[in-house]
Amino acid sequence: METRQQMKDTLQRRIDALKDELHSLSRDIWVRPELGGEETHAHDRLLRFFSQEDPAWTVHRHYKLPTAFRASWGPGGGGGGPVLNVGFLCEYDALPGIGHACGHNLIAEAGAAAAVGLKAAVQEQTELSVKITVLGTPAEENKGGKIDLMEAGAFADLDLVFMAHPFQQDVSFLPCLALDAVTVKYHGKASHAAAYPWEGVNALDAAVLAYNNVSVLRQQMKPQWRLHGIIKHGGVKPNIIPAYTELEFYLRTPLVKDLCDLKAKAEACFRAAAEATGCQVEITYPSHAYHNILPNATLASLYENNGKALGMQFPEQPNDFSGSTDFGNVSFVVPGIHPFFYICTDALNHTEEYTEAAGAEKAQLYTLRTAKTLAMTAVDVVCCPDLLRQVREDFEVANRKQEK
Ligand SMILES: [Zn+2]
Ligand SMILES: [Zn+2]
Repeated sequence: METRQQMKDTLQRRIDALKDELHSLSRDIWVRPELGGEETHAHDRLLRFFSQEDPAWTVHRHYKLPTAFRASWGPGGGGGGPVLNVGFLCEYDALPGIGHACGHNLIAEAGAAAAVGLKAAVQEQTELSVKITVLGTPAEENKGGKIDLMEAGAFADLDLVFMAHPFQQDVSFLPCLALDAVTVKYHGKASHAAAYPWEGVNALDAAVLAYNNVSVLRQQMKPQWRLHGIIKHGGVKPNIIPAYTELEFYLRTPLVKDLCDLKAKAEACFRAAAEATGCQVEITYPSHAYHNILPNATLASLYENNGKALGMQFPEQPNDFSGSTDFGNVSFVVPGIHPFFYICTDALNHTEEYTEAAGAEKAQLYTLRTAKTLAMTAVDVVCCPDLLRQVREDFEVANRKQEK
């Protein structure tokens, strides 16, 4: 226990010593918000941070994706045993129009801070054998960058993954919803809307019917299912019967295995609209489906204990959160934790107020406290083989439960 406490003290001192650099890191990302897949500035800025922190970091620019990166260190700790590779994830994409309204600049900061904190703690030890890997995972909001990275093998050598997401409270676990996005295209036939409307096949009518069919379906859905969408193209001019329309819907269910039921119901709505109007319909799922997050009770309880030691308060009944994340997919292949953290605001994610809060000085204390808590949780697991076994067992059990 003494070693663990010593390591936890060391990592806190290291993170505190770097607090100005860490603040400037997240601030630089915040002032230049970049959309998913275009985060070149954030990519370069994060790599600069690691190279300056210690030349011993091995950095891979553009790692498997143009704006992803990998920074790794070790194995350090002096031990000769099997190497444990501890991963920390940094997100850094922003939202169109409202900047860092999800606070991903703070995710980047927390991931970087936790990694350098753990490194300092491991460096003092002679019995451990720990490698630290930071993955820069782009495009969480729009493309599921972690899923592309996973398919390219970026997570294959990681034993554990840690990241944390800004929220309204400190919460060690929220399951999030599985998500898939569907694009629906209707092809009709143009005609003069006043002179020869009977010659046209109205693709806007199909879009409107599809939207209404889905609205009617919603009453019959399970309470936690979500189905919401927009009409992206609704025609070009009132005096032309629209020949082409396009809709985009998001489908969400608590468990990824239930997505196919919701998809079948939604597709029936879309096809019925095509049938009624005589349009042709194309239904595609252009991006990756996001999984729900698997719980890891051992990591969650360690995180809470460490967080409480630093003053975090965990509500008995956390606020409901029906969002989705590509970390869900990661949680099915590597044991990990994705807690949510308070940043000194009651504003809600994806609002302009949240953007402001994510760039504010007062978020710093909470972001660094979260980074320390992540690194302290990693210390518990790397120092204690029994805990590591439990974490792995929780992971297996949670995976098996999902299959049923
Ligand atoms: Zn978001
Ligand atoms: Zn987010």
